[in-house]
Amino acid sequence: MCIRCHAETETELCTYCATLTRIEVERGFLHLESYLRKWAAFERWLERRVAV
Ligand SMILES: [Zn+2]
Repeated sequence: MCIRCHAETETELCTYCATLTRIEVERGFLHLESYLRKWAAFERWLERRVAV
């Protein structure tokens, strides 16, 4: 049974939910990447401030 939509399936996720989950995970990684980039920019800004 599918753990997301409870459809009858041999696997944990049906094909439809497996596809949706993959898209969500990829979007999550994009969010994480931009989040980490902002932190890196903040740390560079902080270093410049401390150096002055
Ligand atoms: Zn499903």
